[in-house]
Amino acid sequence: MKVDLSPVIKVTGAEIKLDTTVGFSDAEFLGESYRFLEPLKVYGRVYNNGQSLTLEADVKGSMKTECARCLDELETDVEFSVNELLSQRKESQEDSDDIILFDGYEIELDDIIADHFLMNVSGRYLCSDDCKGLCPQCGTNLNKGECDCNTEYIDPRWQALADILKNSEE
Ligand SMILES: [Zn+2]
Ligand SMILES: [Zn+2]
Repeated sequence: MKVDLSPVIKVTGAEIKLDTTVGFSDAEFLGESYRFLEPLKVYGRVYNNGQSLTLEADVKGSMKTECARCLDELETDVEFSVNELLSQRKESQEDSDDIILFDGYEIELDDIIADHFLMNVSGRYLCSDDCKGLCPQCGTNLNKGECDCNTEYIDPRWQALADILKNSEE
């Protein structure tokens, strides 16, 4: 969604209220997938304080993603705030980390929210704090049932060491 900043660009004290939603399609980021059932709510403003334009907004919603341990789908809240300086790009001005440059009189709100979403996702969500995860041998979801695997499973990389220790005891 584009936001037209022309009403505030040159008027100290002017502001544009933001009360909108931003819809994302499903996203993949660092190997995790995120599904949005409905658009994120965006509430805030763009304000001209005489020195610069600031974008302040609270973003709220929910999403579905996978539990990092058992890979079951889970739903979790999304909530973060955005606080950015905006500036109209002067001729051939380079992008910077401190300020969002826009061309003409419009900002692309979706892009700014998407960037902040990616900065705010933890990348690691659990269905519950005591999720038992998957059996490393057979892949059974241990929250849903037990399997017949040896529960004192030893990582094959450690098995050789375990054998050595056992031999030295004998
Ligand atoms: Zn889980
Ligand atoms: Zn198993």
